[in-house]
Order: sequence, then C-alpha cells, then structure tokens
Amino acid sequence: SEERSLNFIEEIVEEDLKSGKYQSITTRFPPEPNGYLHIGHAKSICLNFGLAKKYGGTTNLRFDDTNPTTEETEYVESIKDDVRWLGFEWANEFYASDYFEKLYGFAVQLIQKGLAYVDDSTSDEIAHQKGTPTSPGVRNQFAERTVEENLQIFTEMREGKYEDGSKVLRAKIDMASPNMLLRDPIIYRIKHAHHHRTGDKWCIYPMYDFAHGQSDSIEHITHSICTLEFVPHRDLYDWCIEQLGIFPSRQYEFARLNMTYTVMSKRKLLQLVNENHVSGWDDPRMSTISGMRRRGYTAEAIRDFCERIGVAKRENLIDVSLLEFCVREHLNKIALRRMVVFDPLKIVITNYNNDAEMLSSENNPEDPDGGHRDVPFSRELYIEREDFMEVAPKKYFRLAPGQMVRLKSAYIIKCDEVIKDADGNITELHCSYIPESKSGSDTSGINVKGTLHWVSIAHAVTAEVRLYDRLFKVEDVANAEGDFKDHINENSLEIIPNAYAEPALLNDTINDRYQFIRKGYFSMDKESTKEKLVFNRTVTLKDGWKK
Ligand code: ATP
Ligand code: MG
Ligand code: MG
Repeated sequence: SEERSLNFIEEIVEEDLKSGKYQSITTRFPPEPNGYLHIGHAKSICLNFGLAKKYGGTTNLRFDDTNPTTEETEYVESIKDDVRWLGFEWANEFYASDYFEKLYGFAVQLIQKGLAYVDDSTSDEIAHQKGTPTSPGVRNQFAERTVEENLQIFTEMREGKYEDGSKVLRAKIDMASPNMLLRDPIIYRIKHAHHHRTGDKWCIYPMYDFAHGQSDSIEHITHSICTLEFVPHRDLYDWCIEQLGIFPSRQYEFARLNMTYTVMSKRKLLQLVNENHVSGWDDPRMSTISGMRRRGYTAEAIRDFCERIGVAKRENLIDVSLLEFCVREHLNKIALRRMVVFDPLKIVITNYNNDAEMLSSENNPEDPDGGHRDVPFSRELYIEREDFMEVAPKKYFRLAPGQMVRLKSAYIIKCDEVIKDADGNITELHCSYIPESKSGSDTSGINVKGTLHWVSIAHAVTAEVRLYDRLFKVEDVANAEGDFKDHINENSLEIIPNAYAEPALLNDTINDRYQFIRKGYFSMDKESTKEKLVFNRTVTLKDGWKK
C-alpha cells in the first residue's frame, strides 16, 4: 500500500504512546441500534478499528442503546454482520444498557455532591430559563432542593412513581456558561418504555451526554473518536469524568463523511424504506453497508475508499465517483469475465456447418492464475443490437454490411446480408466466418479493429439484469432546496428482464464478482435462483455519469 502521512488522530495516539500516557490504546465503535449502518459508519469503523490494529490496541463494539423507543434487536444483528463483513473483529461486545445500574450510581454520586437536582419544570420552561448564547440563564427554585430531597425523589423516579416528562434530573453546573450544554443539562428523563434488552426494568433513562462518556470511562477507552457535532459536548464529557473521578477517557472529533448524490442519516434512510422509495435497507441503491454489499461492492474497496479520503477536521463533501473508482480498481483484479447480451440481434453464420464447438476464454486477463472457461460456439449467435449499424460512419469498427469484426475468443466474421421483416425492421444478419481466424491459432492474416461479445443462442441462459443509477439527482442532497425526497432520481433502476448469458454463469454464487465484457461489473442478487438468475450491476466500466 502507498505511504501516507499520519492523520491528526494518529499523531495524537503516537504522542500519547511515546510520552507514556498510555501503554496501549483502546477505541470503540458506538452505534445506536436504530437503523442499518451506512458508508459514514464504515468510515468510523475503519478509523476506530484501524487505529487499534495499527497501534496494537483493541476496539470494543458498544451499542449505544439508551433510547428505548427507537432501538431494535434486528438492528443490533445487522450492525454486527456489517462490521464483520467489513473485515473487523471487536474485542468485546458491550451495551450501554448494561451500565444502567452503574450510571444510576453515578447520578446518585452527583446528587450527593450537590451537583445534580430534580427539576419539575416543563421542557418549555427549562428551555426558556436556559437563556440565549448571549444572555445568561436563570436557575429556578428546584435547584434549591436539598440532597436528601433529591435522593428521595430520584429514587421514586426510578420506582415509577412519576409520569413521563413530569420530572428530570439535571446536573448543576453553570447557568451562565457560554456553552449552552453546561447550563444545568438534563442527565436523566422519565420514559415508561420497553427496552430491547432491559425490558421494563427501567423507566428512567440517561441522556446521551450522561451515558456516552461514562461508558467510555467504564471500558477504559483511551481515545473516544466521534464526529464534529460533538465538539460542544466535550466540556460536559470532561466535567462528568472529573466530578465522578473516573478513568479519564478523552474525546476527539473528526469531520463526518458526506458524499455526493446520496443521503446518510439513518432517519432519512428509514424514510426511504418506510415510504417504499427503495425495496429495503439493503436495496442496492442505498448508502447502507448492506445495500453496497448486495450491489456487489467489496469490503476491500470500501476500506480502500475510507483510507483514501483520510481524516478531516472540517466538513466536506466527497465525490461518490471516488468510491466507485475504488470498487472498479478492486473488481478489475478479481472479476471473472463473462459474455452477456442485453439487447439481442441474431446472426447466422452461414458457412458454419459443424455442430457446436467448445472454445476457451480466459477468466481474467489481470490474473495469471485465473484459468479459463468453456464457451460454446455455434451457427446461430446473438450479438448486441447496438453493435451493428446498417449505414456506418467511416471509423465505425463494429459490425456493418461488408465489414469484419472479431467475436471475442472465437472467429472473425463478416456481415454479408441484412434480413428484415415486412416493416423494415432488422431481424437477423447473415454472416460468414473465417475458419483460420480462431482466437489463439489465427493464421488468417486479417486484422480487424473491433471485438464484440456474443453468445450462442442454443446454449444461452437468460438472466434478469438490474442496472442502477444514482438515487438522487443533485450532488449535495442534504443541502438541496426543499425536501430531500423531491430530488429522488425516478430512473435509478432499469430492469432488463431477459438478457442472454453464456452458460458459465449458471455456476455463479453470491460471492463471485463478474465483469460482463464491455458492459460493467456485476454480481448475483440475493433474489437469484437456478430457475431465474438475477444480476445487479455493481458499477459501470468507466465513469460514465452524465447529468
Ligand atoms: P445518523 O445521523 O446517520 O443516525 P449517528 O451519528 O446518529 O448517525 P450512530 O449510530 O450514533 O449514528 O453512529 C455511530 C458512530 O458512527 C458514531 O461515532 C458516529 O459519530 C459515527 N458516524 C455516524 N455517521 C458518520 C459519518 N457520516 N461519518 C463518519 N462517522 C459517522
Ligand atoms: Mg449517535
Ligand atoms: Mg442518529
């Protein structure tokens, strides 16, 4: 792999190891199980697991499941599948919900130190009393509650004595702080809701800011890496750790990945699924890891992409073409070459009077160990309709009346006659082949410029081919005018119900990657069966995106 300079987080880690601050590092990937992971999460996964791998540390997978109403076990399972598929292994599988008892204890500690109080105000009142960034907030009378009173009410909150929203626990910090998050932030709320792991055991739940840092600390996370929107949360993260006197995890922020022509917020992805704009979380057009996997992207290509985009300190928008470039780079090395005709035009080789013969074609010219496959050749073949022109311009190297082309791994043929129906539509071409021109033993001395893919009609298998385009019509979807769904590309899926493929494709498995010669990279869809083959176009051969 190419040498690159250290990113700023690696610099921090190297400094911390050199100075002896830490003997080894521990990172975590902390998804909330409220949706499927997307390419932005892949960036975070590669960063967190990559750091630990590079510096000999470990990474925990921690489900940040403190919000019972949005979280589901289905998501937990999909997240684990995705992280594994990307090629990473976690040292421990943890759940923030496993720390509920400890977190509760931390809250009690703060109350005992006079650093937290129960507030009966409504959320509107609390928001109002907080003031504005330019004017200080005011504390209300509830902040005067005694330690005993707070302990008693907080216990009763836990016991279920109060209704949702009737009380909250707030940290007592600084109502005049320029950081609004330090103006007595809410750290516990009442929510009588069923939790995917703890069931009905709890009816109070810690807020993100009271759960995340302490969970990091409990696990002795040395470098807690998150995205830039958490910069203002860092003061509160540090405050809690300091007041509780627990392991000093440190938070570092990098710019989240944004990519052109797509969305990557779980909330928006969920809308696309629920409103049937896509077939599901793993629709091949989705920016989800499961969608990209189904489409035929490889984990190697996604890791390569995450490495190439680097770790930025400022928000930016990455061109999705870079991801597609990485996918092509990898697939070019591993994809098996196959011939598939999408829009058939029949040709008859009039001087070919043998039965069929078996020709041989290399699986992958990029791979010397790739081997060969058998390709049947016979008197009646299909070529691509667009590879023939009745009246061709001067430098047209495909098939035209009187003109010669090579059929890939087969023979040179010449178009002798164009057959049409009563309406003037071309129904077939009559051609002749040059017997001495067989690929690999060509003694014909004829040079032709064009090489076409083809299939033998009698041996062809049909397949449904799904061609995907970008799901959105605008580059910067998140910042485009109006609702993001206004920008959906209605033509992002084109289905070719009956493509004709060489029979080698019958032996395909979901893990194989193909280049359909001159067509693009493809892989088998999960809906494919022996009776009905289905292939997804992973990516085109070249960057052919036109607006
Ligand atoms: P979303 O807004 O899509 O729901 P999230 O940040 O709420 O994302 P989490 O499940 O909390 O999703 O994310 C787990 C980890 O992945 C967090 O550390 C988060 O910062 C990181 N992450 C999420 N989105 C991106 C992104 N676009 N680029 C880089 N990291 C991301
Ligand atoms: Mg989050
Ligand atoms: Mg979120």
